[in-house]
Amino acid sequence: MKPHVNRCWAQIDLAALERNLRRIRATLPAHMRYVAVVKADAYGHGLHHAAARMMHSGADLFAVANVAEAAQLRELGPGWPILVLSPLLLEEDPLLAELDLAATISSAQEIARFDAVGRAAGRRLKVHLKIDTGMGRLGVWHTDAHALYAQITAAPHLELAGIYTHFASPDEDAAFTAEQRHCFLDALSRCEALGLRLDQSLFIHADNSAGLGTLPEGGRPFNAVRIGLLQFGIQPAPHALLTQVHTEPVFSFHTRIGLVKELPAGTTISYGRTHRLARDTRVAILCAGYGDGIPRALSNRGQVLVGGHRCPILGRVTMDQTILDVSALPAVACGDEAVLIGTQPTPNTAQPSSEPAATSPAPLAQIDIGEFSRWADTIPWEILCSITKRVPRLYQSPLGI
Ligand SMILES: *Cc1c(COP(=O)(O)O)cnc(C)c1O
Repeated sequence: MKPHVNRCWAQIDLAALERNLRRIRATLPAHMRYVAVVKADAYGHGLHHAAARMMHSGADLFAVANVAEAAQLRELGPGWPILVLSPLLLEEDPLLAELDLAATISSAQEIARFDAVGRAAGRRLKVHLKIDTGMGRLGVWHTDAHALYAQITAAPHLELAGIYTHFASPDEDAAFTAEQRHCFLDALSRCEALGLRLDQSLFIHADNSAGLGTLPEGGRPFNAVRIGLLQFGIQPAPHALLTQVHTEPVFSFHTRIGLVKELPAGTTISYGRTHRLARDTRVAILCAGYGDGIPRALSNRGQVLVGGHRCPILGRVTMDQTILDVSALPAVACGDEAVLIGTQPTPNTAQPSSEPAATSPAPLAQIDIGEFSRWADTIPWEILCSITKRVPRLYQSPLGI
C-alpha cells in the first residue's frame, strides 16, 4: 500500500499553462516580450514545475517577489534573467551579484547600495527603474524619475535593463489607467532628453493581466508585459477586456468524502451551531477544511461538487473537515471525490452504448475560482496563495508532453 493517500490535493495542468502562455503571446504585437510573474510559488502552482514549463513556452524574463524566490528559481537555470519586484533588505544586497538578479530601483539610496554591490563583484548589475504613476507603492514618483535615471546611468556598476510602472485599477478604471500611462510616457520623455533610448535594449513595461486589455494599438513604446494571473487561465475580472484571449484553468482543487451519515431534522451542524437542519438530511464530511485552504468564510455559503451536483456547505468550515448536504445523492459513499474548484461530469449524461462513436463530451458542472473567491469576499490571487502546504500539488502533463 502507498505510504499515504491524497485526502486533499491540487491538480496542476502544465500543458494548459503552456497553451495559455502561447495564446497570450499570440495576441500581442511581435516585439512585445513576456515577463512571466511567478511570485508566491507561481501563484501557488509550484515555482519549479511552473517556471520549468514556461522556460519552454516562450517566457523572456521571470519576475519574483524577493531574493528567496529568486534563489529557488535560479536553481532551474543559470542563464535566465530574473527581476526582483520587491525592495531588498540591506542584508540581501550581496545576493544580487551572487545569483545574478536584476533589482527594482525606487530611490537614490538603492542606486548607491546596488552600485556598491556591483563594485564589490567587479561587474555591472542589471536594474529596472520603477516609476510610481499613481499606485502609491513602489517606484520613484513620476515627476522625479528623470533624476534617478540620470543617477543610474552615471553609476559605473549599474546597467539599466528596464523601466516600468504598475497600474492601480486596470480592471475597473480605464480613465485612471490612461492617466497613469500618460504620466509614465511623460517621465520617459524627460529621460529621453537626458539620453534614454526607447528601444529593445530595455524592457519597457507596465501591463499586468488586466492591463493587457488597455494596451494601446501596437503597444509602443511598451515592449514587454508582466503576466501573472491570466497565464494560469484566470480572468482578472469578470468584465475584463480580455475576452479575445482564450485561456484555460491550470489549477483545480480536490478532496474526498471521509464519512456519510444521516442526521435528524433539528440537529445543529458544526462549531457555533450556525446551521440547524430543517429536515432529515444526509451529510458528507469532507477530508479538508481551512487547514487546507478552504476559507472559513465559505461556512453556510459555499458549494462543492460531488457526483456532478452542487452540494451546499453546512455550518462552519473547520480546520480538517467540511460538512456538506448530500441529500440529493443517494449513492454517495466514503472515498468519493469532491471538487472544490474545477469541473466534474454532470450526472445522467451517459451516452447510450449503441452510439459510442459520436460522443459529445459530457456536460461539466463547474465551480471556477472566481465564484469560489466571491463566496469568500476575496480575489483569486488570494485564494491561490491560501492553499496550504498540507495540499500536495499533482502535476499532469510532465515536461515535454
Ligand atoms: C503580481 C504583479 C504582476 C502580475 O499581476 P497579474 O494581475 O497577476 O497579472 C505584475 N506586476 C507586478 C509589479 C506585480 O506585483
